[in-house]
This record gives sequence, structure tokens and C-alpha cells, in this order.
Amino acid sequence: MGFDILGLGEKTLSAVADAGYTEPTPIQAQAIPQVLMGRDILGIAQTGTGKTASFTLPMIDILAEGRARARMPRSLILEPTRELAVQVAENFEKYGKNHKLSMALLIGGVNFADQEKALDRGVDVLIATPGRLLDHFERGKLLLTGIDILVVDEADRMLDMGFIPDVEKICEKISKQHQTLFFSATMPPPIQRLTDQFLDDPRKIEVARASTTAKTIKQSLVTVGPREKRKALRKLIKEEDVKNGIIFCNRKRDVKEVYASLARHGFSVGQLHGDMEQRERLAVLSDFKENAIQLLVASDVAARGLDVPDVSHVFNFDVPSHAEDYVHRIGRTGRAGREGTAFTIATKSRDDNKYVEAIEKMADEKLPRVTLDLTPPKPKLAADDLPMKPFVGMGPCMPAFLTKPVLNKSK
Ligand code: AMP
Repeated sequence: MGFDILGLGEKTLSAVADAGYTEPTPIQAQAIPQVLMGRDILGIAQTGTGKTASFTLPMIDILAEGRARARMPRSLILEPTRELAVQVAENFEKYGKNHKLSMALLIGGVNFADQEKALDRGVDVLIATPGRLLDHFERGKLLLTGIDILVVDEADRMLDMGFIPDVEKICEKISKQHQTLFFSATMPPPIQRLTDQFLDDPRKIEVARASTTAKTIKQSLVTVGPREKRKALRKLIKEEDVKNGIIFCNRKRDVKEVYASLARHGFSVGQLHGDMEQRERLAVLSDFKENAIQLLVASDVAARGLDVPDVSHVFNFDVPSHAEDYVHRIGRTGRAGREGTAFTIATKSRDDNKYVEAIEKMADEKLPRVTLDLTPPKPKLAADDLPMKPFVGMGPCMPAFLTKPVLNKSK
């Protein structure tokens, strides 16, 4: 099935073709015609399913009609993190390149004055994190009375980050009749309540349950001693054919330490965590996307929703303490039908056992165990050490370690 039967306009279809997409993903096939018909959507989908295009493409067509008025954006997209907001903006630029839609971003770290100027001129699309949006609203810089389409993206992550009260406030302020497109990977009770309150007979589209991990991801669990984790990580990176990989740690402190350790060992690596300036984060992300660095050490929040199309490997330096984070982490690889590999490094600690159990319970399957030999390689025998005589003219009784090349890979 091609994109052409979904009801999108010619200019949008041409931008989609230029992006190299030939077939809509399941959420795109189901959501796009419904959004074009003006219906509310409840999309239960994770990142990696193509959900961003499932709302941006029809929005571009809808917004192509009509004009923006000063300080009254025509559509609003709420994102939990700045990185996600930037990615959605990039999507609008890519798919909307044949249209003349105006856009503004209200996120931390992006020049305030420039964004206000854009708002003053009037924007078709406003992409914001909830706190920043309310700041602008409360300072009277923005009116929410012209919103025709509201998108709430990654609602369950908004919940984790404590943003739901802000989202509720924003929903209440958009008094006008409008269309709402709501996305969440999971539906915990507070999110369910929010959708009951603010969605109008939504079309529910569920593409993959949060507990199901992509079938294209080869997953493995490696158990090592608590002091061997970094060594294990280096060995895995060296032994695997890693085109590019994300290494997840549970804490910011560990992100910094693992990054410094890999850099010391000569790996091509960057880091992404909440203590970094927005400018630095975007620079690292851009280096990673452009393959200027091979590895990225990241925390869950900073890496949430990273749109890096073809990550070959994900390494969990720590077992995530929330099983759902595991799904989100490994969802960075094996995206849009590509093959991916995910390794989780665990220790025998009671906590790690508990976390692994929770992941396996949620996925309803055992993580395949692999063993990693971390003993230092045998030293190479120097020529002087080789016994001369016994080997003359014979093969079968030659000791195995001399018939096989002894690899001395540095650790
Ligand atoms: P998302 O779930 O929106 O984060 O998208 C995941 C990735 O899939 C992004 O890198 C998109 O560029 C890519 N993508 C989206 N739609 C398609 C499609 N129809 N065919 C191939 N790749 C796609």
C-alpha cells in the first residue's frame, strides 16, 4: 500500500517521496485518513513506529488552508522534552518543504526574543514544552483561542516528568472547538482520565503494546561482576559490528563517568544528560546523527524519543529500574523494520535481579543470556619461549594453543 491512497495532497506526497518513504507504517495508514476527516485520535504507540509523521503529514494539509493571525497560533504541539520538540520541528520542515507554513518553538535554551517575534507575526504551528508555553501565556504573549489542532505527544513521559497538571491547564485554556491528537506509549490511570476529559469520541489506534518489544531487535543479557561493567562494555563494543550505538545509564553521574572512561580508552563518544546546556545537547545530537561520533552515552530523560533513524546497537550499562524504560531504550534500535541489537549488562545484585525479572514479566519472555569471557588474554609467546625440537615435522600432537592463533586483543 502506498501513501497516495491516504488522502494527502500532492505537495505533501512529493515531500514524503523525497524523504524516501514508500509505504506508510501501520499507525500512519490508520491515523492519517482519520486526522484529515477532523476526528480526535488516541494513538497508543511508541517512538519508532512512525507516529510523528502520522500527525505532521495530515496537519500540513489541513493547515495549508487558512492564515495565521498575530499571537494566535493555529495549532499547538506539546512535547515533554526540548529534543523531541526540535525533532518535530525538523519533521515539519522536511514534510512541509513544499508549503509555506510558519512555525515557532517555545522551549528552554532557544532565543526568547526571536520566538516572540515569530509569534507576533502569527504562526501556523507552535511546538512547545508545557512549562515554557504557560510562561509565555501568563506573560500575555500568546493567545490560545485560535487553536484548531492540539497534539499531546508522549503523554506518559509527560506524566513521569510531572507535566500533567500543566497539560491539563493548557487543555482547559483552549476553549474553542478543536481537534485533539493524543499519543502515549502506555495508558496509566492519570493519562486515561485526561483522555476521558479532553478527547471527543476519539478514534483509538493501538499499533504495538508498550510491553511488546520490536521483533527486529536481537536482545541479550550479560551478567558480570560489579567492577567489570566498563570492561564488559568495551569488550562488547569491540566484538560487535557497531555502526553507531547508544549506551544508557540510570544516573547522570554514571553517564559522565562512562563517557569519560570510553573517551580515555580512545572510543569515538559523546554524552547527553540533563546537566548540559541545550546548545551542547543539540551539538552532540547533531554529531551523532551525522556519524561524527560513533557512540552516545545518555540518560533516559535526555535520550527520550531521540530520532536517530538507524542505530545499530543499544547497550544498557545499567538495567533500567522501570521495565518501561527498557522498552523505550531498546526502541532506539530496530526502528521502522530495520535490524538492531540490544545488550543489557547486569550484575548479580538483588536489585538487578528484580529489574530483570520485571522486564521479563512485562515482555512475557526470557532475555537470552550470553556469557562474556573477561579473563585477560594469554600473553603471546615470544619466539625465544618456543620449544624448538618437539615440533619438527609433526602436526597432530602440536598443542592446540599453538595451532590456533593466539589473539591478544587489548581490552
Ligand atoms: P517516529 O516513530 O515518528 O519517531 O519515527 C521513527 C523513524 O521512522 C523516523 O526516523 C522516521 O523518519 C522514520 N519513518 C517514519 N515514517 C516512515 C515510513 N513510512 N517509512 C520509513 N521510515 C519512516
